[in-house]
Amino acid sequence: MVFGPISPNPRRRPSGCLKLAGADIPWVDRHKYVGIWFTSVQRDILTLRVHYEKKEGAASYVFWRSILGCDLFVGRGRLPPTVGLQLYYAVIDCHLTHGADMILDVDNTSSNLLDDLNRMVLRRILGLGRRSGIPQLYSELGVYPLRVRRLELALRYLRYLIALPESHLARKALTESNRLRCSGSASWLGDISFVMRSLPFSSPLPVLPSLAHLSVAWCDETIKSLREATKDWVSSEIQARVSLPLLHGRREPLEDKPPRPIRMCRRHYLHRVTIPEHRHALTRLLCGSFRFRGIHKPATLVDPLSRLCRKCGLADEVPGHVFMQCLHPDTIAAREELRHGLLERCNYTLPTSNSDAQAFSLLQDLIFHWDRVIPTARFVLVVAKSWKFFGNVMPTRVCEDDPGAEDGEEEEDAGL
Ligand SMILES: [Zn+2]
Repeated sequence: MVFGPISPNPRRRPSGCLKLAGADIPWVDRHKYVGIWFTSVQRDILTLRVHYEKKEGAASYVFWRSILGCDLFVGRGRLPPTVGLQLYYAVIDCHLTHGADMILDVDNTSSNLLDDLNRMVLRRILGLGRRSGIPQLYSELGVYPLRVRRLELALRYLRYLIALPESHLARKALTESNRLRCSGSASWLGDISFVMRSLPFSSPLPVLPSLAHLSVAWCDETIKSLREATKDWVSSEIQARVSLPLLHGRREPLEDKPPRPIRMCRRHYLHRVTIPEHRHALTRLLCGSFRFRGIHKPATLVDPLSRLCRKCGLADEVPGHVFMQCLHPDTIAAREELRHGLLERCNYTLPTSNSDAQAFSLLQDLIFHWDRVIPTARFVLVVAKSWKFFGNVMPTRVCEDDPGAEDGEEEEDAGL
C-alpha cells in the first residue's frame, strides 16, 4: 500500500512494482489486513474510516437479513424482543464491535456510523420510533452503549497484553506504544486514554497510567468502574427527562424475589406481555412516545390551561390522570375491564385514587408488577387507541404499526 493518492498519470507512478516469488505486488491505496481495512488517501487515516464504513455496511446488511427478515416472516412488529436481542448478539454485534480492541473510537464521525445503526436496531427491537430518546434504549433492553462495549474490549485486550512475557512481540509493541505516548506522539495507549476521558460520565474513569504502573488488577477494576459509570449515566439521564416520568424511581419486579431498583436490564414486560400490540403500547408509554400535554417540558414553562386533559378538561393531562382518573366514558369502560381482569387473573382489587400522586403511584404499581402488568398492558392499548393525540393513532392490528414512525421525542445528543 502506498501513502498518498495514486496518480492516474502512468508517468507519475513508480516505474515498477515490488515482486514476491516472481509476481508483481500491485500499488493500492487501501488494503485489508487481518480483517481490518487500511487506507492512505483519506484525511483521517489513523481512524480507519474505511473500516467503519465497511463494518456499517456489513451490519446493515445482516440487520435487514435477520431481524427485518424475521419481521417479514412472522408479521411486522411481532418478533419478541428476546428473540430480537438473540439475533442482535448473534449476527449484528460481531460487526459493530469488530476490531474494537485495536481501533479506538477517537473520531466521532466514524464511530457515529456504527452508533447510529446500533440505535436503529435497538429501536426496532423495542418497537419505538426512529426519533425516540436514547438512554431508555439501554435501560429497557439492558444493552450497554456501543462505545462503552468497544472500549471494554480494548481494555480487555490491554489486560491480555500486560500479562504477556516481556519477550512476546505483542508485549514489545505495547512497550513501544507506551514510549510513543510518553513522548507525546499518537499511539494506541494514547487513544485508549483519550476515549476514556471523552465519555460523558459525571464520575470520570481513572486516568490511564504509564505502562510501569499498569497491572491486570488495574484493568479489572477499571472495567468494573466503566460498567458502573455507564449504569449511573443511564439512570441520571432518565431521571433528568420530564418525558419519562413513569421510569423515575422505578423498581424492577422479579419472579421470586421482592422488587428492587435495577438501572439496566431486560425488563419484565418485554417477555411477560406476549401479545405484541399490548407490549408495543406499554413500551411506548414508558419510553415517552405518547405526547401528553405539557409533559415534554417542565410544568412551570407551560400555561396551566393548555395542560388540561383533552378528554374531560378537569385536570392536568398526565399519565396518572389519563389512565387512572379520567372521567371520559371510554376510559371508564376500559378501567372497568381492567378491574375485572385484575380480579380474575391476579385476585387483586383495583383501588380508587383520590389524588394525582396516588393515581401516578397506582399506575406505576400496576406496570411494575410481575403479574398485573399483563392486563395493564391491554388496558394501556385500549385507552391509547381512543387518544389520537398520542403521537400516531395506536393500531388495531400490529401489522399496521410502523415502528419507524416519528412518534417520539426529538432525538437528543445524549453523548453515547
Ligand atoms: Zn381527563
